[in-house]
Amino acid sequence: MAGLCGTDYGIWSGERAVGYPLVPGHEFVGHVAAVGLGVSRVRVDDRVVIEPNYSCGACPLCREGNRNLCLARTAVGIDVDGCFAEVARVPERCCWPAPAGVADEDLLMTEPLAVVVRAVARATVRAGESAAVVGGGTLGLLALQVLRGRGAHVLLVSRSSRRFPLARELGAAATHAVADGPLASAAATFSGREGVDVVIETAGTPEAVSHALTLVRPGGRVVLTGLPHEPTSVTFFSVVRREVTIAGSMIYQDEFPEAMQLVASGTVRTRQLVTHRFGLDAIGEAFAAHRRPESIKVAVLTA
Ligand SMILES: [Zn+2]
Ligand SMILES: [Zn+2]
Repeated sequence: MAGLCGTDYGIWSGERAVGYPLVPGHEFVGHVAAVGLGVSRVRVDDRVVIEPNYSCGACPLCREGNRNLCLARTAVGIDVDGCFAEVARVPERCCWPAPAGVADEDLLMTEPLAVVVRAVARATVRAGESAAVVGGGTLGLLALQVLRGRGAHVLLVSRSSRRFPLARELGAAATHAVADGPLASAAATFSGREGVDVVIETAGTPEAVSHALTLVRPGGRVVLTGLPHEPTSVTFFSVVRREVTIAGSMIYQDEFPEAMQLVASGTVRTRQLVTHRFGLDAIGEAFAAHRRPESIKVAVLTA
């Protein structure tokens, strides 16, 4: 079972050009059909969750543990063929044993979840802190649950209020649509002070970055995990004057086991985010569904 995300859509539409022809798809759970020589970590028939990035293992970044930053990193479904197929080939180190008793559909979002597990870890959130999540897409709805799991109170901020009922159901203490009023006062009201302690930005737009900086309190932390491709105008005067810490967070290093554990323990609920399901033979419909406003995560059943 595979999940479809914005990256796949960009590859499919050509907005994000890659070396075609390519089989896209990088979020998946499956059974091992065959193993190569010397493989010891997985066996045929094992159910595995795939970590779809692998690094060179030899450069200074890899050797110091920053394998997510490796300049020679390979992304499955982007650099090499991915999972929108009956079978996919990945290195054994990309295979994590699926926790017993947890359905494929629940594990389908382990990959995006690992992204936000890292982002929240980089914010060093403490229990009782106030946090804002910018963006109500898959990453935002996962981030709010990870923050809740760490004991934070979470305000979800989004351009649209469409996902607010679901965000509340998943544990957001409050929600705020950008058009509903100034973000600074929303953050002050929510936190009971100058702004929230922590902001996790997941929307990946230039506006979302400035929203994050508006929501945070003096001395607070902002972690950016969306990928804004256009430049953002940031008034660094206010970053310095308010001593705001801004951190980037790129995919994941060692967060896959924790992400699977958060799903297995029920701390993070993912099934509510799967809004559409298609067979592999209807992949065109799956891409079309991804663009519909009501869609959150489209699942593709590849077998
Ligand atoms: Zn993705
Ligand atoms: Zn490397």
